[in-house]
Amino acid sequence: MRKTSRRLGQHFLSNPEILDSIVEYGELSREDVVLEVGAGRGELTERIAERAGKVIAVEIDQRLVEELRERLRGYSNVEILAGDILKLKPRGFNKVVSNPPYRISLKLMEWLLDSKPDLMVLTLQKEFASKLVAKPGTSKYLYISVLASAFYDVKIAMTIPRSAFRPPPKVNSSLVVMKLKEEIPEISENEKEILKKVFTRRRQTAKRVLRDLAEDLGITLEILEKTGEETFSKRVFQLSADELLQIAKAIRRSEEKPKPK
Ligand code: SAH
Repeated sequence: MRKTSRRLGQHFLSNPEILDSIVEYGELSREDVVLEVGAGRGELTERIAERAGKVIAVEIDQRLVEELRERLRGYSNVEILAGDILKLKPRGFNKVVSNPPYRISLKLMEWLLDSKPDLMVLTLQKEFASKLVAKPGTSKYLYISVLASAFYDVKIAMTIPRSAFRPPPKVNSSLVVMKLKEEIPEISENEKEILKKVFTRRRQTAKRVLRDLAEDLGITLEILEKTGEETFSKRVFQLSADELLQIAKAIRRSEEKPKPK
């Protein structure tokens, strides 16, 4: 077997029971178009292809792409895309089932949260998974926690031991299942930028961060008067996704209004 690339996060899932249960969590039917990020040798791809209507399998490593083409030749419902998922950004899938490279977790998740598939089943570094489920007021609660919980019900379905991978990674993994909520908020790019900015000062009080932000943006602080005192005395990381979204929307509205003379 040729050498695997650590840089590309090549840790192949080799435990059949775990592979099977990952696919189970995908609740697949022939109606589904499934994206697989980093298909590797195709162990997972083949299992998905058995049940889904279609698989879009993306793989960056040209040698693995050839292996995949060979292995999956018999499946007419597999589309193999060679290249970087973050550049290809395919469309037209309603589910994601993958063991993706951990290095790109954050960027991948940001893009997936934009694409909003109905269901995502992903093996992720345990540390990153814990950020996706982090609650307000905890140390792991970050910008990505807010976005994930605004759109998805996120659950850690199981811990995957390092020994399930070949070669075993240095870090522990979790299987994360994300179901799109029935009602999801509209969050514009601009509002996301605001949220991100606010989170760079997550330990400071909302009041202080917003005052500074308002000053930077040259807007008036109407929102600080309107929203309850309580919200603003909290620290950024103690605010719920709802509270944060309200703030971001209010800032955006004030930005759109001409400044009173
Ligand atoms: N899903 C397979 C492989 C997981 S390893 C399995 O479970 O066995 C992660 C895979 O992602 C590797 O095959 C690696 O080559 C691929 N990869 C790494 N970076 C990528 C990127 N930016 N875009 C697409 N694939 C990538």
